[in-house]
Amino acid sequence: MWRPPSRGAALLRRALRRGSVPSRSKGGSERAWATPSGFDTGVVTFNSLSKKKEPLILARERVATWYSCGPTVYDHAHLGHACSYVRFDILQRILSRCFGVVVVHAMVITDVDDKIIQRSWQENVSPAVISRMYEEEFKKDMLSLKVIPPVVYLRVTENVHRIVAFIEGIIRNGNAYATREGDVYFDVQSIGDRYGWFTGATGSHGEQGSSGKRDPRDFALWKKAKPREPYWESPWGRGRPGWHIECSTIASHVFGNQLDIHSGGVDLAFPHHENEVAQSEAYHQCRQWANYFLHSGHLHLRGSAEKMSKSLKNYITIKDFLQSHSASEFRMFCLLTKYRSAIDYSDGSMSEARAALETIRTFTEAAEAYMKGQLRCSPVQEGFLWERLLEAKSGVLKALADDFDTPRAVGALMNMIYHGNCQLQPVAVADEAARSPAVFGAMVTFIREMLEVFGIDLLQDKEADVFSRSGSLQAVVEQLTRFRSEVREFALTRQDGPSSGSSGKPGLYPDRAPLLKACDALRNELAPLGVLIKRLHLHLGDQRRSKDIKSSGSRPGQRQLKSSETQRLKRSQENKL
Ligand SMILES: [Zn+2]
Repeated sequence: MWRPPSRGAALLRRALRRGSVPSRSKGGSERAWATPSGFDTGVVTFNSLSKKKEPLILARERVATWYSCGPTVYDHAHLGHACSYVRFDILQRILSRCFGVVVVHAMVITDVDDKIIQRSWQENVSPAVISRMYEEEFKKDMLSLKVIPPVVYLRVTENVHRIVAFIEGIIRNGNAYATREGDVYFDVQSIGDRYGWFTGATGSHGEQGSSGKRDPRDFALWKKAKPREPYWESPWGRGRPGWHIECSTIASHVFGNQLDIHSGGVDLAFPHHENEVAQSEAYHQCRQWANYFLHSGHLHLRGSAEKMSKSLKNYITIKDFLQSHSASEFRMFCLLTKYRSAIDYSDGSMSEARAALETIRTFTEAAEAYMKGQLRCSPVQEGFLWERLLEAKSGVLKALADDFDTPRAVGALMNMIYHGNCQLQPVAVADEAARSPAVFGAMVTFIREMLEVFGIDLLQDKEADVFSRSGSLQAVVEQLTRFRSEVREFALTRQDGPSSGSSGKPGLYPDRAPLLKACDALRNELAPLGVLIKRLHLHLGDQRRSKDIKSSGSRPGQRQLKSSETQRLKRSQENKL
């Protein structure tokens, strides 16, 4: 079952290979974190290794090597997973778009594991079928959440030969041992007090396992195959890799003996990341394999003290969530808390996220209307708004440079929007000479840039919204045409006596002629929008379109609509039927 080596990863590693690892601080504890030398990004970030905020320094100029533990693919991904991946996607976007760093992100897919094996027994299919199916689903879920895919996904089952070689290296270096039963364990005592970077390590009794373990904290690098389990040949007999060793091997395969950033949910810190560090440093014989460990907080259902998880059966799948919410709403929900904090999911917190997006959208629409001259306002304090814009720009950047403080950055953006809104006060008659469209244009441009950084697409959301409201849009069109026909009927009422005006049609009231004209104009203006009015009958374009619009309340229906029809619907909304 061994696979040929993956050339792509080897080339990537060669391209990224670089010099020295940081030197250990003198006189400190064995476990002291050393500030790396290299390129200072200008960002400070909380590093779980030192347990405080540290300047983010990269080994290469403007390049961050980033490894993240991917999913174990045995079931649907839920919002807890979504939250961690979206939060780190936002961090990567910030690093690349605001701080000019190229993020080289590799992720492992755990496609052999106890849970996958159990699931395959339940479903009576091979573990490979289960893992491929849920891997594809995971990738689709990530795309629908607008998560930028890692530059490379690597599967554990395609790297087992590398894992075996990695374990052999650790044994050679004196940090692991094989038992008589055919398991291989990491020897925690061999690294002294360098074991215990992450909270929870001290005093742990470690994982259950073979009686041949030297220390209860020792953990499996290789597990002897049990009956009916998938297995690979190895110097220690048939078996499969332990969970932690896959990440050390694959991260080293891609990035060599040193890594800038390693990320994952906080539940992975111990024992998973602790063990990854131990293995990698033992294999590479280095003092600091990954320079920064970033951990995201858990997602809880409000009112529940437990994190969302499959084993607790308190989860919402990403697919179910996206039936009633957009990816942008979820992103805003994530942005409104710091990535390290636990996050409460509830209808209320989602409404808050939706309201924040609505505030941004309403302001940009009003600002655009003002720029076009459709929204007339009293003279604007332009200088004051330019100042607010500058303040927002520096506020956002400062917040993001401070451990990616997205709630503070959104706050700075909202403050600018508040001041913008205060100035956009509609008046009946405006002084055309006292307009200040440029400052509003600059504000809208900045907002768009920031939304793009955060992966939020207001325009796409708006389209989706138009479709979801297309039922009510049709009702509005019907009301409008009914109103028009009543007005028209009134205008066409014939008077009993002879017509008094020479310009009006015979028998009609001349003072009602403008109403008739307005009705005709309305009919003509609605026609290019796809609303054809013939007497009292209403048709929304041809039969096909009419059918599409009626079916557009559901998401699958939305996708069937053509973009020209989308534009038409949008225009008709903008014209405020
Ligand atoms: Zn991992």
